[in-house]
Amino acid sequence: MPRSPYRGRFAPSPTGDLHAGSLVAALAGWLRARQAGGQWLLRMEDIDPLREVDGSAQSILADLQRLGLIADGAVMYQSTRHAAYQAALDVLHDKGLIFPCWCSRADLATADGIHRDGHCVRPADSERAPALRLQVPDTTIAFDDMLQGPQRQNLRDTVGDIVLRRADGCWAYQLACVVDDAAQGVTEVVRGVDLMTSTPRQIHLQHLLDLPTPRYLHIPLVTDRDGRKLSKSNLDRPLDGRPVAVLLRAALVCLGVPVENRPEGNIQGLLESAVRHFDIARLEQVGRLSFALP
Ligand code: GLU
Repeated sequence: MPRSPYRGRFAPSPTGDLHAGSLVAALAGWLRARQAGGQWLLRMEDIDPLREVDGSAQSILADLQRLGLIADGAVMYQSTRHAAYQAALDVLHDKGLIFPCWCSRADLATADGIHRDGHCVRPADSERAPALRLQVPDTTIAFDDMLQGPQRQNLRDTVGDIVLRRADGCWAYQLACVVDDAAQGVTEVVRGVDLMTSTPRQIHLQHLLDLPTPRYLHIPLVTDRDGRKLSKSNLDRPLDGRPVAVLLRAALVCLGVPVENRPEGNIQGLLESAVRHFDIARLEQVGRLSFALP
């Protein structure tokens, strides 16, 4: 069977500006897509109004544009995808795998915060909307991450019955992500390693929904020069007032791409050379990537 053409995606949540970590993840994904002669798509994960920061969707998109990371095709907005998520939920419901759940965090405190009963242990409460959970079996999901190697997770022990729709009516990231990766025909997911613990849940959902599983490449944690988490450094708003070529260089160096001494401002030249030189083998043994601004 011919292999599907490469399709990657960058899927930011509009909860703040593009920071060094998301910039590096976006760049790594863009480079993989360009090297494969494939497509790179954008998806705005705007399904959680409580966490959304006004204007950040527009500012993330504008920053990507300034950095020369141009998507192939229109941006998908998850806020417009309600019907697709509902259809996926219906499939799982018809399989008898969905149950309404009124448990609070406090109810789950004695079980490490994990719901493992396969049904709600609280009486139904007609006054209060329930969350909708997926019954999760005692199963271990294994996958080979392209950078981090073989991974295994027992779903029941580690995550338990998964919330797919919250009590406030918002769709959960896990369901929306799986439905949209399939809808966008994504063949490879490039994202930060902080999301790797979500991958087994997503693979389990793909199996249940009869959707293909993409390859996964989780890039190492990005820290500042001193090894501090980005949230504790001044790199959470790296684009503020800095020339884009400076940032692009810093992100490329972070990814182990040799950067030639080109005149600043030549974004196109930097990106073209990076497509030739980016090599994930250089990242393989690295625990964390260091983002250093001059
Ligand atoms: N929207 C998620 C985030 O910004 C990323 C989701 C993904 O790449 O799967 O953390």
